[in-house]
Amino acid sequence: MTASIYLAKGRDKSLRRKHPWIFSRGVERIEGSPQSGETVDVFAQNGQWLAKAAYSPSSQIRARVWSFEKEEINKDFFVKRIQQAQLLREEIIERDGVTGYRLIAAESDGLPGITIDRYQNFLVCQLLSAGAECQKQVLVEALLECFPNSNIYERSDVSVRKKEGLKETMGVLHGEEPPESVIIEENGVKISVDIKGGHKTGFYLDQRDSRQQSVKYVKDKEVLNCFSYTGGFGLYALKGGAKRVINADVSQPALDTAKHNAEINGFDISKKRAVFLNADVFKLLREYRDQGTKFDVVIMDPPKFAESKAQLNGACRGYKDINMLAMQILKPGGTLLTYSCSGLMEQSLFQKILSDAALDANRSVKFIERFEQAADHPVDTAYPEGFYLKGFACKVL
Ligand code: SAH
Repeated sequence: MTASIYLAKGRDKSLRRKHPWIFSRGVERIEGSPQSGETVDVFAQNGQWLAKAAYSPSSQIRARVWSFEKEEINKDFFVKRIQQAQLLREEIIERDGVTGYRLIAAESDGLPGITIDRYQNFLVCQLLSAGAECQKQVLVEALLECFPNSNIYERSDVSVRKKEGLKETMGVLHGEEPPESVIIEENGVKISVDIKGGHKTGFYLDQRDSRQQSVKYVKDKEVLNCFSYTGGFGLYALKGGAKRVINADVSQPALDTAKHNAEINGFDISKKRAVFLNADVFKLLREYRDQGTKFDVVIMDPPKFAESKAQLNGACRGYKDINMLAMQILKPGGTLLTYSCSGLMEQSLFQKILSDAALDANRSVKFIERFEQAADHPVDTAYPEGFYLKGFACKVL
């Protein structure tokens, strides 16, 4: 018999709005003894059936909803969700000519805790919830039904799994081990992805649209690409005719790949048209400022500074600091392309931080364009937390 969760009085509101999380404090009682990740029925206090969810005994998020319909959570269920997600991406795949994209964006695609990125015929899964872990085999079968010739690899080597009582893990789930380099393409740019050793599942697919939108600002310009990872924005800048691009990152393997990426695209990087600099961006920006080195365009795409609410204040200081420095090293009329991938940092707060940075930099700054995560990272109306990546193009006078 399926175990059941009964919510406390009044704690069914968010579920009725189709938000997929059930917090531990909202649970009144549990009938049966569900194992970690097991599918349970969820009821309101008055006994009304609400959803099928995956139970997670260790997490504050005690259960995550698979479905608001009375259906079995089996291979067919996953096939349906995967097909729906793939359909949603087909326009993007066509339009941007992509062979690397986010197939499943977890809660936003109705599959809580499951992220799947596709790089050519490699499907890379990151499973972050007890429910996702429990359904791993079924998920693999469903993926193979949708993409019969694919290889499936797991990159669940992330510490947040602890919250769900899960250990970090990675390895082959089906087919071949990924080679060191899988080449994907987006908007006519080739990118080498290291599925096993790269960050996240190998690449930051979420910045694809912003990378494309950055191209119009770079022709004949001196560009500083901060936190470059494997070149992303820098490659688009070279494509867009930048005079010179400096890519700065602290990861040498990422910089090596960035250089390799410039080469496989056939970009002319002789005469130092592209530079790959192993440097801490916080220090580098200060050095440039103190030396009086100036740029036409600065791209600022740092890692997530705020993992929790407790870190938000510190994160604000970090964002303000780097953006102030970026403004200071821009030539008059220069462009700052700046991003925040911290979900806890709302767009309005980020805008405020940039305003404070402008004051401290003593520069007049205009917001001229806004950016969001790429379209294969959709936001479900019921799950606003799915919106995490935002950015601005600013003119710095
Ligand atoms: N813009 C990239 C993604 C950037 S991810 C793209 O479009 O693909 C963030 C990067 O910041 C990572 O590569 C990480 O190695 C780097 N990083 C983190 N802290 C850093 C620091 N203090 N200085 C320089 N790079 C840093």
